[in-house]
Amino acid sequence: MTKKQFQAESKRLLEMMINSIYTHREIFLRELISNASDAIDKIYYKTLSDDQLTFNKEDYFIKITPDKAARTLTISDTGIGMTEEELENNLGIIAKSGSLAFKKENEAQDGHNIIGQFGVGFYAAFMVADEVTVITRALGSDQAYRWYSDGADGYTIEPADKATVGTDIVLTIKENTEDDQYDEYLEEYRLRAIIKKYSDFIRYPIKMDITSSRPADKQEGDAEDKEPEYVDYTEEQTINSMIPIWRKNKSELTDEDYNNFYQEKRYGFDKPLKHVHISADGAVVYNAILFIPENTPFDYYTKEYEKGLELYSNGVLIMDKCADLLPDYFSFVKGMVDSEDLSLNISRELLQHDRQLKLIAKNIKNKIKSQLQSLIRDERENYEKFYASFGRQLKFGVYNDYGMHKDDLQDLLMFHSSKEKKLVTLDEYVSRMPEDQKYIYYAAGDSIERIEKLPQTEMVSDKGYEILYLTDDIDEFALKVIAAYKEKEFKSVSSGDLGIEPDEKDEAAQAEENDNKELFDAMKETLGGKVKNVKASKRLKSHPVCLSTDGELSIEMEKILQMMPN
Ligand code: ADP
Ligand code: MG
Repeated sequence: MTKKQFQAESKRLLEMMINSIYTHREIFLRELISNASDAIDKIYYKTLSDDQLTFNKEDYFIKITPDKAARTLTISDTGIGMTEEELENNLGIIAKSGSLAFKKENEAQDGHNIIGQFGVGFYAAFMVADEVTVITRALGSDQAYRWYSDGADGYTIEPADKATVGTDIVLTIKENTEDDQYDEYLEEYRLRAIIKKYSDFIRYPIKMDITSSRPADKQEGDAEDKEPEYVDYTEEQTINSMIPIWRKNKSELTDEDYNNFYQEKRYGFDKPLKHVHISADGAVVYNAILFIPENTPFDYYTKEYEKGLELYSNGVLIMDKCADLLPDYFSFVKGMVDSEDLSLNISRELLQHDRQLKLIAKNIKNKIKSQLQSLIRDERENYEKFYASFGRQLKFGVYNDYGMHKDDLQDLLMFHSSKEKKLVTLDEYVSRMPEDQKYIYYAAGDSIERIEKLPQTEMVSDKGYEILYLTDDIDEFALKVIAAYKEKEFKSVSSGDLGIEPDEKDEAAQAEENDNKELFDAMKETLGGKVKNVKASKRLKSHPVCLSTDGELSIEMEKILQMMPN
């Protein structure tokens, strides 16, 4: 039997697994159980479309069997199994989902951290085992196969015997070393705890033979007050509750449960900032768990990023990324929706027009919005973290689609404030405006430091008015679309008319201008067509000169528009 080599990339990941010093090794079990569950799902799908097959619930389960004497841990499932070819393709090469994330993440940080932050799949087994044997028989095949590997060297595949369809994964658990404990992965109580923690909502029973002790039955002739003897007995138990987390009562769930769910589902590699658990039973009945991530996914601001929520119909996954459930401006939201009101076999095209789905989408949009608003109110720091990651998306949201979403979004925007020296909302700005202030003032520039040096800000600041500093190129476009907030219009500090009450200096400026008409004309000429006019101004204090605009566009916007390809 010849040994085959793993693909180069797989080999690298495998070596990392083998040498892992990662403390969350326990996730290997989550990975193997989730594969087992996927394999049962696949049979279930088959039965839906094939009249010859029926799905008997009792026949489908996952079984975990530790054997201390042999030092093995076996994960068995009655799922769809693998053919020889599938064994080769699936276990010799990292599955696509895992490898993509691996490559990207690996560029950014070093190996040890990334393990366990996201799904690494089957190879996680090598974090706790020196040898892995897979015995599997595919649905519709009489022949079973054995895949075996003792590490990065490679693997072998040979025919084997297996009476039933499904897969057994046998791990030979590593020996304890001075630094690392592996014995625990052969202990019933420990395995049970790991299953509860990560795999409780798996929809198929995860069974274990659990040994307990009970008082022995009384024997005839035993004295009344004789201490009962205890005897051990073994009983097969289902460890997981099987109720998906979204069907559970919010009050039974902890933050950790939601975080585990986020990880299990691979929604992101970060910890979510906030979760929203919805159990709606109004016009449309559905459950949903939504997450607001903390970090921007590496591809978020690229075309590759795909928004969407998982869509379940009565507990069965029908779509991985249902884009119609989320508006673009909330495309960062992760999570799932389960509704009894949706048909299982609904096609993508029909789904788009589904009335129920539209209702759910609207409902979800409002929930996300109010969740973000409550973050602003009650968890300012978290909101600022969120805003650093996704604020730009909200501003694009205001600007896109001809501004039709501005009412939904304007309260979620924040800009740096000249007064507060931190991010403030428009509402905060307007609520502390002095009575004589007519406009919401802003200044645009590359950075806060540069804006602070702009001569144009002086006059407004001197009046005691607050200025919003716009440092992102989309900022000003967003404000233009909003046009006015609580009936206060936005005004750039570089616009010709600042709307500030003229004072006695006005006349002096006019006189100055008349006196120096020749000089100003000469300046204008020297600058060629670059300026429209040169005049005396009363707004300057510590700067000799400044540029101002007299149209709709500010200097910054003009710069950006000029950079855009026609
Ligand atoms: P992923 O689950 O993200 O696809 P994995 O590395 O966990 O990646 O698994 C690789 C592939 O191996 C799976 O996609 C599946 O096709 C196959 N596989 C793994 N475990 C099983 C199993 N218990 N039964 C059937 N197929 C399996
Ligand atoms: Mg997997």
